[in-house]
Amino acid sequence: MKYLLVLAVLMVAFWIWRNNRIGPREAPPPAPKAPALRKPTQMVACLECGTHLPQGEAVMGPHGAYCSAEHRQLGEDRAA
Ligand SMILES: [Zn+2]
Repeated sequence: MKYLLVLAVLMVAFWIWRNNRIGPREAPPPAPKAPALRKPTQMVACLECGTHLPQGEAVMGPHGAYCSAEHRQLGEDRAA
């Protein structure tokens, strides 16, 4: 009976030790961050060649958007 009690204590101790060891690994990994919601990019067409490009990358001229500084120059020369 004495040995049974010792065995029971050892088993409980082993169980606690195992849970402590495995516990952190079993914790669910941090949920992957949801991709940041981005507003749809506004597309603009180059007034010179008609290429569509994001508004952020467009070169803005007095008459509208252009795909590059060269086309802006061409467009402004034509308009002048
Ligand atoms: Zn262009």
